[in-house]
Amino acid sequence: MPALNTGCCLCEAVKYELHGKPVKCAVCHCDSCQQFSGSAFMANCWYKQNDFKIVRGRDAITTYDERGTVSGLIMKRSFCKICGSSLFQQMTQLQEAGLVSVTSGTMDDRSDAQPTLEIWCRNRRQWLTLDHQGEKLEAQ
Ligand SMILES: [Zn+2]
Ligand SMILES: [Zn+2]
Repeated sequence: MPALNTGCCLCEAVKYELHGKPVKCAVCHCDSCQQFSGSAFMANCWYKQNDFKIVRGRDAITTYDERGTVSGLIMKRSFCKICGSSLFQQMTQLQEAGLVSVTSGTMDDRSDAQPTLEIWCRNRRQWLTLDHQGEKLEAQ
């Protein structure tokens, strides 16, 4: 039996389940992730699409298609339209790999969300130091 984790947005309109372990947990310091999260960085875990199930509030989810990314690909950023919580993200490379990127701050159990990858380190806030053994990339 796969381990089950659950998560929800701040207002709890949207609830989801995560079955099994994340494939990767990525911290991203890019400007878009800072703007979308409203914070210093995003810490998201990549799950197999089949392991991510929205169990409540599908109609409360809105998706913003971010164009003009460095890669030129559209980044689909999904959030709760009631409380604004960032929930999950999708882009072509992830989709083709059968993965979805879920925000770790909305997970009920965050113990599996240790970073295994840190990207856009050259954009990292000056005051910020993260302690992990994962791979660090200056850009993407
Ligand atoms: Zn909400
Ligand atoms: Zn980013």
